[in-house]
Amino acid sequence: MSALKILGYSANALGQRLEPFEYAPPELKEHDVRVSITHCGVCHTDIHAIDDYYGITTFPFVPGHEIVGHVAAVGPAVTGLKEGDRVGIGWQGRSCGKCEWCLKGETQLCMEIEETTVMVPYGGFSSSVIADYRFVYPLPPTMPSEVAAVLMCAGLTVYSALQTHLESPDMKVAILGIGGLGHVAIQFAHAFGCEVTAISSSPAKKDQALGFGADHFIVTNDITNIGKVYFNYDLVICTTNDGTNLDLLLNTIKKRGRLVMIGFPDINLNSTNLVSHDLSITGSLLGNPSTMRAMLSFAQEHGITPMVELMPMSQVNAALQKVKENKARYRIVLFNDMN
Ligand SMILES: [Zn+2]
Ligand SMILES: [Zn+2]
Repeated sequence: MSALKILGYSANALGQRLEPFEYAPPELKEHDVRVSITHCGVCHTDIHAIDDYYGITTFPFVPGHEIVGHVAAVGPAVTGLKEGDRVGIGWQGRSCGKCEWCLKGETQLCMEIEETTVMVPYGGFSSSVIADYRFVYPLPPTMPSEVAAVLMCAGLTVYSALQTHLESPDMKVAILGIGGLGHVAIQFAHAFGCEVTAISSSPAKKDQALGFGADHFIVTNDITNIGKVYFNYDLVICTTNDGTNLDLLLNTIKKRGRLVMIGFPDINLNSTNLVSHDLSITGSLLGNPSTMRAMLSFAQEHGITPMVELMPMSQVNAALQKVKENKARYRIVLFNDMN
């Protein structure tokens, strides 16, 4: 019997502040890896999960799914990873291996999604986490850990959406929302060679958006700005969780163009533009393990660099509050100060 205790921060009921939490790790299954955590990013979906927005949270709940650390123990059937390896883990920590999506390699769509997040039983705002080695990714040696952390959820999400829906670098892309996801999406879309427009409700973000690689910047609250870009974009990626004027946005998309939702805003839609302009609206969730590996090497090759604010894990509640108030610039990564 191991005397190892994992220390973390848990919400003990719906919407509550995180409190220190301690648990004995379950015995490693044959494909499991225990990773000793050095860094964990704070994603808006952590707040959604604490609030049980998705209806799948069980308490006590330890959030955190942009994890970087070192392999501390491996199960007997683990291959390709050894103790000490620096690795990253994202939202998905395992999969059922049997459903139609797992059999197709699209494990992020696993039908057992409630059980397959890395936050079951407990996530990355902790000293350690346990995941199936097939969802534990070796990191490029020179990539800073806080950069890798952000790539594990935000990076994968935006890269996968772009890779799936970009048909050529000639496509004009707009990124709606310049936050944790959006500022990385601008960088990836620019690296893919696209003409990129950043669309934000906040004029103050203009210089930074251009610095991330946007060619143009538009403020959403100015209707005349939007009016200039009717039928302009082949692809719009919506990264925001805030309510958005979808009818106005659809006007900016070329006929037969596409809107991809990767944030979770409540939307109302008048279907006139959708039908008469022959548009598509689709969602995009994370990406599969081979997309994760491709994303990491693309990010390394193209110098994708999320703008990170480092905070100690002991300040997790302050970090969550900052994200809630949209004050993070642009992603907070917690470093483990528990040891
Ligand atoms: Zn996330
Ligand atoms: Zn499955």
